[in-house]
Amino acid sequence: MKIKYPQSYPHSFSVEEVVIAFQTDSESGLSQSEAEKRTREFGPNIYQAQKQKSIWLMMLLQFKSPIVYLLFFAVAVTFYFQNVIEAIAILAVIMVNAAIGFLMELQARNSMNALKEMDVIHSKVIRDGKVQEIPSEKIVPGDIIVLEAGDVIPGDAHLIESNQLQCEESSLTGESLPTEKNTDKLAKDIALGDQFNMVFKGTSVTNGTGKAVITGIAQHTQLGTITSLVESSKEKETPLDKKIGALSKKLIWITLAMTGIFAITGIIQGKDWVLILETSIALSVAAFPEGLPIVATVALAYGMLLMAKRNAIVKKLSAVETLGSTNVILTDKTGTLTENKIYVDTFSFPNEKIKVSIEDNVLSFAEGNIKKSEAEFQKLILIGALCNNVSPKKGDDKTELIGDPIEIALVHLADASGSITEDLKLQYERTGEIPFSSDTKIMGTLHKNSNGYFVAAKGSVEHLLIKCSKIQTGSTIQNLSEEDRKNILAQSEEMAADGLRVLAFAFNEEGEINKDDFLNSLVYVAMIGFLDPPRLDIKEAMLTCRKAGIKIVMITGDHPLTALNIAKKVGLVDENEQNAITGIDIPDMESLSDEWNKKILSTAVFARTTPKQKLDIVATYQKAGNIVAMTGDGVNDAPALKKSDIGIAMGLRGTQVAKETASIILKDDSFKSIAQAVSHGREIFQNIQKFVIYLVSCNLSEIFIVTTLGFVAPASTLLPLQILFLNMVTDVFPALALGLGKGDKTVMERPPRDPKLLILSNKDWITISFYAATMTLAVIVAVFYCKQTISTDSKIINNVAFITLAFAQLFHVFNMSSAHSNFFVNDITKNKFVWIALLICTALMVLVFAIPQMRSVLRLDVLPAQVWLVSILAGLIPLLLVQVYKFIWERKSSK
Ligand code: ATP
Repeated sequence: MKIKYPQSYPHSFSVEEVVIAFQTDSESGLSQSEAEKRTREFGPNIYQAQKQKSIWLMMLLQFKSPIVYLLFFAVAVTFYFQNVIEAIAILAVIMVNAAIGFLMELQARNSMNALKEMDVIHSKVIRDGKVQEIPSEKIVPGDIIVLEAGDVIPGDAHLIESNQLQCEESSLTGESLPTEKNTDKLAKDIALGDQFNMVFKGTSVTNGTGKAVITGIAQHTQLGTITSLVESSKEKETPLDKKIGALSKKLIWITLAMTGIFAITGIIQGKDWVLILETSIALSVAAFPEGLPIVATVALAYGMLLMAKRNAIVKKLSAVETLGSTNVILTDKTGTLTENKIYVDTFSFPNEKIKVSIEDNVLSFAEGNIKKSEAEFQKLILIGALCNNVSPKKGDDKTELIGDPIEIALVHLADASGSITEDLKLQYERTGEIPFSSDTKIMGTLHKNSNGYFVAAKGSVEHLLIKCSKIQTGSTIQNLSEEDRKNILAQSEEMAADGLRVLAFAFNEEGEINKDDFLNSLVYVAMIGFLDPPRLDIKEAMLTCRKAGIKIVMITGDHPLTALNIAKKVGLVDENEQNAITGIDIPDMESLSDEWNKKILSTAVFARTTPKQKLDIVATYQKAGNIVAMTGDGVNDAPALKKSDIGIAMGLRGTQVAKETASIILKDDSFKSIAQAVSHGREIFQNIQKFVIYLVSCNLSEIFIVTTLGFVAPASTLLPLQILFLNMVTDVFPALALGLGKGDKTVMERPPRDPKLLILSNKDWITISFYAATMTLAVIVAVFYCKQTISTDSKIINNVAFITLAFAQLFHVFNMSSAHSNFFVNDITKNKFVWIALLICTALMVLVFAIPQMRSVLRLDVLPAQVWLVSILAGLIPLLLVQVYKFIWERKSSK
């Protein structure tokens, strides 16, 4: 029987009613075959707006540009003057140009799609009785989803189980505080913000755990009905797009000015106005770097794909540019600077401290055996097994443990000491949980067994001790004295100074237990020091970042001594660094004194911080004018990730919310990949800058040449079609090759780029003008030489100008090598795309001269070998002059 879908008031159902209405099972969920049937019936869980524009539209949009309109105008003018062949030729150019643009955009889109696939959000559902992770797109109505803190909700759903579940729903309801959820049946006419038994697509779980039946997907969700929110998922214009737009505008003004000057002087000189019109069109065509936006997109998309291969998935195009400007990286510790392979290393009982190790499921003590603390040890194992959310996932040949690495280490500890976690969990039925949060830094669970209630608690030593009033030594329990507290804290500091992550363990099994607030009057048992080895391979990355003018700051929830120890081992601070700021000491940021401000900006290690403080530290750095990258994994990191200029989420241990909010996801969680991503960001931007300089200098040279020849040899000036050919052939392919280059090694030896700077600085404009002038000179030299020695025929002279410029522009690509690089071995000569581009361009040139029809359209002639030789030699002039200029400049600047 078919289910009724969509349902109008799912919140008005009770738990039983919703399960029946959606024909599902609260324990075993849907069967896989039923889920597949529902996918066919109700479609995938995606919005219409997220569908990509069609191939046809993409093709059509290639014609939507001012230059194409201008060319169509040129076609009309040439038709009017009955120059049919030329009109057809311009049309062909428009078509070829659109085809190149289309192919490049398709390539960029494929790269972006490949990136998107790496960034698919998964959801936990129960199907065929098993919890499994599936792409959120595949969720169907009636699926039972399993929720925990950090999850992004994949569809609207009715809760059937809620364990202190809280959701952040500000995007839907405007309510900034998390909403507490339950499973109660509600009346029909209840406002969205008060539908406490529902969770909604796109919101996230901030606390607790739960289970829910999916009642709506895709458009049939609250989020789907708010179109503006759906539309906001479209890619916005990036800062780079804006800068390229501004540059194009500037070039249009330059052209207009040149055309104006040329037309007015032409009219004053009484020249033929058809010639004036033709040359004006040539000038307009010359000035516009047609390839610029598309080459930029291809370069970015290609760069992003390379970055993804090196473990950094970039979600926003704009992030690449910002990465290159980043000058502060705020990083967390666990997993990023450490391996996140957590081992139990030391037990600290009130009467003894013992080093331990677990190998092949065998627990061994450094001193041979546990002597004085057997009773505490047994309690410790029990607490560790119960206050634990690890779940086993059965694979084909072995069972994998899923959950927090600390808790996994505790399960291994219980197993190695002869207890079986699953059995303990059955003996002590869990009836309540106060989940771990980075704010409280403790976690507690309430259990019931044959003797009554049992509270198991673990957490940071300072935070848990506040909740303890007694201590267990041997089998006796007594009051916890001030002396005891001091001793415990001193022992924890000792372990922290060794780089261990320390957790304290406590319990309660007597007296009145408040089921809602059971974390008090606890009995302290022991501490465990966990070893999380530092990633030693990141030392080099730290050094590279420092050289690149990037400051690295560690912000962790861990103990200051643990933090300092790890910071020293990975080379984040010097060996003698003693300075770490502890969260509790930081005053309220709203009333921060200048002195504290300075202190924050000059400290490299922040410990025991709260998520709010992470956000404040980001803000302090930003206020001081820095571009801040920030790593995060937890649900509470999302605001700081959003606030930072580049939010970096951890792919392995990050929650979905962190991944959704961030602009970059690290596949391997390692700091090394962050440093690599920054270097890539810089290289990509450098490539973009290189091809912009190349393209603009080529275009400017065309303007110079058309204007100069217009005055000195008007009959031989370059024709619009010739310029179009040059722009499309001699410019675009080498430019693309520059955009795909590997970048040079020195990018990380320079300070970060100011993001406010335009693509081209004033100095770049001077350089570009110089480049353009050298190419103009090359053409003038060739023209004069040929006029004197070979022929005075205006067509031949025009052809000389054309091929000299073509060669000059091709050779000019070698001028784009980085400063201080070897002339023969540098990033350009090593770029295989450059050689391919040169080969294609030369072949096309040969083809144009070999095919009579092409020759006639481009008004070319069969030229004597001598002309070719002169043109090629003259084409080398810019290369020669620029190299001499670079040589002198570098000698001057190195003095
Ligand atoms: P890092 O920067 O190292 O990733 P963090 O900011 O993520 O650290 P938290 O995970 O918030 O730090 O941990 C802070 C403290 O809370 C730890 O030092 C530890 O004492 C305690 N803690 C961590 N995980 C748990 C847990 N699962 N249960 C109870 N306490 C925990």
